[in-house]
Amino acid sequence: MEKRVRVRFAPSPTGGLHMGGVRTALFNYLFAKKHGGDFILRIEDTDQTRFVQGAEEYIIAALKWCRIEPNEGVGFGDGPHKPYRQSERKELGIYKTYADKLIASGHAYYAFDTEADLDAMRKRLEAAKVVAPQYNAVTRQNMHNSLTLPEDEVKKLLAAGTKHVVRLKVPRNEEIRFNDIIRGWVTVNSSQVDDKVLLKSDGMPTYHLAHIVDDIEMKISHAVRGEEWLPSAPAHILIYKYLGLENEMPKLAHLPLILNPDGNGKISKREARFPVFPLSWQDPREATPYIGYKESGYYPEAFINILALLGWNPGTNEEIFSVEQLAALFEMEKVHKSGAKFDPEKAKWFNQQYLRKKTDKELAEAFAPVLKEKGINRDADFVEAFCRLVKEKVHFVHEFWEQGKYVFESPTGYDEKVMTKKWNEKSKEIFTAVITNFKTVSDWSIENITKSFHDAEAQVGKIDMQLLRVLVTGVAGGPQLFDMLALIGKEEVLKRMEIAISKK
Ligand code: GLU
Repeated sequence: MEKRVRVRFAPSPTGGLHMGGVRTALFNYLFAKKHGGDFILRIEDTDQTRFVQGAEEYIIAALKWCRIEPNEGVGFGDGPHKPYRQSERKELGIYKTYADKLIASGHAYYAFDTEADLDAMRKRLEAAKVVAPQYNAVTRQNMHNSLTLPEDEVKKLLAAGTKHVVRLKVPRNEEIRFNDIIRGWVTVNSSQVDDKVLLKSDGMPTYHLAHIVDDIEMKISHAVRGEEWLPSAPAHILIYKYLGLENEMPKLAHLPLILNPDGNGKISKREARFPVFPLSWQDPREATPYIGYKESGYYPEAFINILALLGWNPGTNEEIFSVEQLAALFEMEKVHKSGAKFDPEKAKWFNQQYLRKKTDKELAEAFAPVLKEKGINRDADFVEAFCRLVKEKVHFVHEFWEQGKYVFESPTGYDEKVMTKKWNEKSKEIFTAVITNFKTVSDWSIENITKSFHDAEAQVGKIDMQLLRVLVTGVAGGPQLFDMLALIGKEEVLKRMEIAISKK
């Protein structure tokens, strides 16, 4: 019988979530949804030296903002396999029990080497021109461990509480094969794998042991994670084998890297950063707070849509998908092996598509705080009409201001390029005629403005519309001219035109 689908997102609380991390969470979530399974959040906090205060809360808030919520796990409610934080799971004694099993069966051993011993080994190997010095089947023979020391000495050292770690005993030359849902069969020779530390000297398990114990105990069916874990997978395969748990092992899926738009190299940290907390939240290790997707004005739906297509697509040309559609279409087998290029410009386009789906009222409400901050007080209908007019020009709500502030404020200058090129000795007369015609319009509608403009043209000849735009708004481009004049209002348009002309 197929196992019930149970997947986990297992971040370490070592900082804010990166784009790649959120994508890992998303693919797990979509896979669980597609198969009616469970999605679990497990916090892997066994490395106390890398612990960052606030990172766990950050991860939870990020998942909530994206609306990819686990149905079990830290911050999302207990299930049958609590606790979900590895530091708390350690108290259950499970990691040590599994490590002891491996020691008892001869597949793991105690190592008493000091930092200085390890350092000396590295130096020795480097001097001998060994490319990747590691603690392995060959080098362990010259080190202080329960495989080289006499049994009674090992007992004595342990009894005396001598600092030690537990290492996996990796065979010298053995083929390790495993199947990855995304990559197919992978074969690695065990000589490439080091004797990984399983339990550290502080008694804490390493990631390698802890995640295996937890995946087993939590009945995880699929381990879906970033490509950076692929090199450790052979060691994990050995651990399952030595524990006699090969049949319980989750299926593996290693997701591709996210690359820069030009495809050369992993995406930059800044680009990939994804803060959900307000800007005042600062990673204690960073000199300045960074701006993330939420603060940049991305909608969570757009962000999810962008991430879903980084390394996967349903095989059609369609690009806009709700999370429900994604869950219905998602197939792990269709995730690509090669790195996924992230294009920040395309990301903006996605947000724009979602912005256009909002009602004018929703946009006006979202834009209201910006106006308030600028000390501008206009009624809701006006702001709504403004949003209707300008929304084709923006990718984000905050861009409404830059794109259309002239609707609320008189221009302080006039586009120099346009003025130099187009303003001439006849312009003053022409625009005075426009003013005269505009003055006679009683119902300031788009239609009447258009008509009045054409009346003026009948009197003075062709009128440059861009010049008219610059006189009223100061800038060379923007939404439909007459629609905008209608919105700004008759009095204001006339006043602005008169001021502009008087300056010439
Ligand atoms: N704690 C690991 C990480 O932060 C989890 C890797 C896995 O999913 O197995 O990437």
